Amino acid sequence: METKRWSVDDSKPAKELIMEAAEYIKKGKLVAFPTETVYGLGANALDSAAVDRIFEAKGRPKNNPLIVHVRDIKMAKSLVEEWPESAQNLAEEFWPGPLTFVLKKGKKVPSNLCAGGETVAIRMPANKIAQMLIEFAKVPIAAPSANRSGKTSTTDSIHVLEQLNGKIDGVIEGGLTKCGIESTVIDLTSRPIRQLRPGPISLSQLELVLDESIEYQPVVIPSSIKSPMKSPGMLERHYQPDKPLRVFSTREEMLEYLKKLPDGYRYAILSREDVFKNQRLGGEPHLHILSDDPKQFSMLIYYHLQIIEKEDIQEIVMVLPPDQQKWHAVRDRLIRASSN
Ligand code: AMP
Ligand code: MG
Repeated sequence: METKRWSVDDSKPAKELIMEAAEYIKKGKLVAFPTETVYGLGANALDSAAVDRIFEAKGRPKNNPLIVHVRDIKMAKSLVEEWPESAQNLAEEFWPGPLTFVLKKGKKVPSNLCAGGETVAIRMPANKIAQMLIEFAKVPIAAPSANRSGKTSTTDSIHVLEQLNGKIDGVIEGGLTKCGIESTVIDLTSRPIRQLRPGPISLSQLELVLDESIEYQPVVIPSSIKSPMKSPGMLERHYQPDKPLRVFSTREEMLEYLKKLPDGYRYAILSREDVFKNQRLGGEPHLHILSDDPKQFSMLIYYHLQIIEKEDIQEIVMVLPPDQQKWHAVRDRLIRASSN
């Protein structure tokens, strides 16, 4: 299959190009497109054959449900059995934006989209290209991250093509995504309300609007870090780069490890500070510096991992950001990415 490319200026997207991509969606084809979080792999959410094609192209297990992207609250309501007050209040505050609601699924929603379950995940993206695509296609668009299952999400169309060229019908090339990590997911069908995935919108921002506390069980640190596990069985391999990622709880632990590396051992350090300063490191390190600000860090973490995994190295090492709410989303991704 040849993958069509539409190159679009994200500040002033060309209508005719996005209309062409929307025609693809209407015909049941797969189109990758930028959202404000990461690139999505889109298909008509109401067409179960098209939804199946997403699972095939990604190699995604059928028990992992997809998020549906909508243009407005009216479209969201058309997909659910019930639109609770909590959804209305949160949508008014955070939509369009990186927040996904899990709600009771309506009758017209295909069951494969929801992995056979009774709930559907919905959000309204803030990216102009994504909004125009839904508007022109006139259907809700199912879109998981545009990457092969289990691999690092894509924040640039080049990386989408590296993973999915020839497996999808088209990609809208609309530059780098702004958030750089996936949306916050909350389950509005449970009591108390639960956060299923931390993301760009924090738990305290949500609690402020809902005026109630939200339950959240942070991902546990893998045993390779030697810290005690909080509970077993919660670890999931996900977001994994093609080279092994080794994470440490502290800078000292990482430096201790690095000092002992043999000559000729090639590795990348992904760091929030210049760890070379006054340090003697073993092996042959490639240093990548990231910002110490959670928003900036999130924006570029996948981008860096996509580049680093192609370097001539044996592994990637890094110190996890601290266990604080503002870092929960990236800690979640990095712990899963380093799990083995
Ligand atoms: P991604 O494929 O990276 O876009 O992630 C989609 C994620 O949304 C899934 O992995 C789940 O975490 C979440 N999700 C989607 N639908 C549901 C649902 N019905 N119930 C719970 N979580 C969901
Ligand atoms: Mg994903």
